Amino acid sequence: MKVIDHINQAKDTLISFEVLPPLKGRGIEALYNHLDPLMEFKPAFINVTYHRSEHVFKKNADGSFQKVVVRKRPGTESICAAIMNKYNVDTVPHLICGGFSINETEDALINLHYLGIDNVLVLRGDAAKNETSFEPEPGGHKYACDLLKQVVNLNSGVYLEDELKNTHKTKFCIGVAGYPEKHFEAPNMAADLQYLKSKVECGADYIITQMFFDNAKYYAFVKACREVGITVPIIPGLKPVYNRKQLNVLPKTFHIDLPPELSVEMEKCKTDAEVERVGSEWLLYQSKDLKQNGVPVLHYYTLGRPHVVANVVKEIV
Ligand code: FAD
Repeated sequence: MKVIDHINQAKDTLISFEVLPPLKGRGIEALYNHLDPLMEFKPAFINVTYHRSEHVFKKNADGSFQKVVVRKRPGTESICAAIMNKYNVDTVPHLICGGFSINETEDALINLHYLGIDNVLVLRGDAAKNETSFEPEPGGHKYACDLLKQVVNLNSGVYLEDELKNTHKTKFCIGVAGYPEKHFEAPNMAADLQYLKSKVECGADYIITQMFFDNAKYYAFVKACREVGITVPIIPGLKPVYNRKQLNVLPKTFHIDLPPELSVEMEKCKTDAEVERVGSEWLLYQSKDLKQNGVPVLHYYTLGRPHVVANVVKEIV
């Protein structure tokens, strides 16, 4: 079932989770162990992130270095199918521009369609680790909007080979990313909102936000979206904080702020367990407030901390 249908048919705020594919070399059991404690909350859907290949330098026996391509977390599409099969829940694979030619993207979409997956979250992806800024693959898409248009075309039966006749239409429900604290490359919030609006005008059904820790920023973002004419559901993305390193890592990696009330409380903690307690309390406070304000879905980035998320969700369902 499509994410947008879940939202339209819901009588209350829904719950959804986001997981990473297991690291290469680990079995899918690691992911099932991660999801098992979360399934009692009946998530409407589960997102699975996409991780592109990276170049790394391996040292040879003679001291020279060799550039090799590694993909640490393969398998997004098949993991979605496996989760659907095991838990009978809808899944949302993330699909990125980075590393894909448009032909490879079409093949990936056809595979997803054959697997019975009706949803995709369409993203640009970040710069590869060896690049200073995002570089599209030769013959690939530069912006999420361009990738989105390819999905919309396939939904209309328009494939890259235009000689194909009487083609099958896919039926993907399309989500896109939004940034309550602005995407770090956008010159200003107004420009970022216009690009977001064009993603919706091109066919996005809903938006999922980057994580935020100050609900006021989410509410201001929703208001600003509505003012520029973006009417689709805007799903808040939520993440637990559980160690002190995140005080620096999260702002640096995701270009977001942690509110002083949260960072001051975290600084006072003496152990990781205390930090995790403070982080859980904050996540619960955010979740309750968002639910009271009628958000369509609470989307949790579970990222290695399913028990923290489970303890919070238990209090709000
Ligand atoms: P875009 O919408 O293409 O925007 C990128 C930048 O370009 C923005 O600054 C925007 O303002 C600007 N822009 C957009 N269109 C135009 C235009 N036509 N002309 C000029 N400027 C333009 N990354 C992964 O690699 N894998 C994942 O699984 C993943 N999951 C994510 C899930 C969520 C919910 C979020 C919020 C992010 C996720 N990311 C993921 C990270 C994401 O790929 C990065 O944030 C990336 O830098 C931007 O992606 P986007 O889809 O928002 O890009």
